[in-house]
Amino acid sequence: MVQVEIVACLALLVGTYGFVAPAGLRQAAPAVRANALRMSVSDEPWFADAVATTVVDKATLDSVFAKATSNDQDFLEASPYWDQSVVPVNTYKNKEPFVGKVVSVKRIVGPEATGETCHIIIDHQGKMPYWEGQSYGVIPPGTNPKNGKPNSVRLYSIASSRYGDDMTGTTTSLCVRRATYWCPELGADDPAKKGVCSNFLCDAKPGDEVKLTGPSGKVMLLPEAEDFKADIIMVATGTGIAPYRSMVRRLFVEKTPAAAAYKGQAWLFLGVANKDALLYDDEWQAVLASHPEQFRYDVALSREQTNAKGGKMYIQDKVEEYADEVFNKLDNGAHMYFCGLKGMMPGILTMLEGVAKSKGLVWEEFLGKLKKNGQWHVEVY
Ligand code: FAD
Repeated sequence: MVQVEIVACLALLVGTYGFVAPAGLRQAAPAVRANALRMSVSDEPWFADAVATTVVDKATLDSVFAKATSNDQDFLEASPYWDQSVVPVNTYKNKEPFVGKVVSVKRIVGPEATGETCHIIIDHQGKMPYWEGQSYGVIPPGTNPKNGKPNSVRLYSIASSRYGDDMTGTTTSLCVRRATYWCPELGADDPAKKGVCSNFLCDAKPGDEVKLTGPSGKVMLLPEAEDFKADIIMVATGTGIAPYRSMVRRLFVEKTPAAAAYKGQAWLFLGVANKDALLYDDEWQAVLASHPEQFRYDVALSREQTNAKGGKMYIQDKVEEYADEVFNKLDNGAHMYFCGLKGMMPGILTMLEGVAKSKGLVWEEFLGKLKKNGQWHVEVY
């Protein structure tokens, strides 16, 4: 009976994980000798003497099995998990980049979206760990015709948690918008002027090599702490959504220590042109359903919605609808993040300044306090 259970466990483990065992299993596996599948002597008489006796400690096997099937994301944590002094920075530099391999490239916007955005998964073999909110550099192949030198590095915010979309801790996901150049004279895209790196990434095929640098950046890290309860307000335009996907997965999707500890509310504002251009909308809907108290999600669709004044609904208009709540949260220690195109910031700052004024606050003082307390996080490009 015990032997049948053991065989079943091993079969299940091999079937579930193939040859890539999770870290816990990798450590414990040597305690289990490999011949639990021994057949009867009559089945394999030619090497019967070569088969050693199996000694399996069932308690060990049970604990390995429990670990392997628990799906906990805890093998890439600092100790304690919020210790940001050990965040990896610039492990790989321009002169010696890490060569990763593309796992998949998927278009993630609908047919009516303005432009193309792709979700790209890259295998880093577990050799290029990163934290949520960091970026990778990508060095596209080829040379820059302007100076004859190799193409320079471009930064991309990481869109997966440190465990990667497959939870193995060996992949990184990027959310890349294909940069195109609309030529007014041609009345069409001019392929000679298309963005080098974004097109390289969006056109990549599984197995293609990608030169990676980093990880870099600490501005967009989560405010993790032993008592992890700060509210988080995340404002994105377009691919600025990337770091928030990694954060939301860590807080609400994966079984991380941070998720277990988090008691605050995370509020995502996403601005895009239209419904087809929404990024990862199904994922946000799923988190809304699983964490209705702790997650909020509002969108600004500039070409489909109108703001209170009858104009186009830009991201600052959507945030302004909730200005009182946003200011209250900030007053109570919330962290506010901004990511996306540079052009989003002037409109947002003007709006926040106007709201502050209407509340009798001096915006510069209010903002200065947020910055001093580390509550203000901006990464725009
Ligand atoms: P480039 O080749 O650098 O060209 C830049 C632009 O110039 C393109 O729009 C191109 O069409 C245009 N152009 C080229 N030639 C001409 C010409 N002769 N005349 C006029 N125009 C021309 N991007 C993302 O998509 N996702 C992210 O998550 C992301 N995160 C970032 C994070 C950070 C911290 C930073 C700094 C940037 C981030 N970016 C991100 C932007 C990214 O780094 C690149 O800048 C972007 O992909 C464009 O690079 P490219 O090589 O494709 O374009």
